Amino acid sequence: MRILLVEDDQVLGEGIKTALDREGYQTDWLKSGLQAKQALLTEEFELVILDLGLPDIDGIDILKGARKSGLDIPILILTARDTIEDKIAGLDTGADDYLIKPFELSELKARLRALCRRRHGHVEPIIEHGRITYNPASLEVTLDNQLIELSRRETTLFAEFLNNPNRVMSKAKLEDVVYGWDIEVESNSIEVHVHHLRKKLYTGIIKTIRGVGYKLESHEK
Ligand code: CA
Repeated sequence: MRILLVEDDQVLGEGIKTALDREGYQTDWLKSGLQAKQALLTEEFELVILDLGLPDIDGIDILKGARKSGLDIPILILTARDTIEDKIAGLDTGADDYLIKPFELSELKARLRALCRRRHGHVEPIIEHGRITYNPASLEVTLDNQLIELSRRETTLFAEFLNNPNRVMSKAKLEDVVYGWDIEVESNSIEVHVHHLRKKLYTGIIKTIRGVGYKLESHEK
């Protein structure tokens, strides 16, 4: 899952990015509000963590602009302004959740999981797909109740498939999800990850849609 983190504080931003990357999210981190506004117009994210106190523009303006342009992804706001009025203003402007600084990273992660569940219509914290289960909290994948060892990137990729069970995903979109902006990606890297997922789970789990991308096999059959 690709997350946009907008936070001008170096230490906090680094802490959040490291924690989320370790959790299997792909986090793209910007420190400027104007850059964030631009990125929201041109890039595809699934969730935004937005600091309200930015040096150039107010986070509330970014929130307003995003909702006005029809962006419907979950937005969690971070704020040091712990007055009730600010929280209400944020929620009324279209935020889905908020955290008051300072906060525990474990709480941020739990809130992100809850937002992600709601976003994808999962009620249960554990996602089931036929013979497979995935626990977003522990990042554990099982097949026929056996724990399967996946690398961090394989887990990120597989979670993306589970969250989009009926969609054909293009290679470019999957590269964004798994690598974000940070890394020069080898042209066949997604193929390699998919190959490993098929080997570790089962061959038919991910279908190749020729010339388009990949799709998770439906488990009704
Ligand atoms: Ca700030």
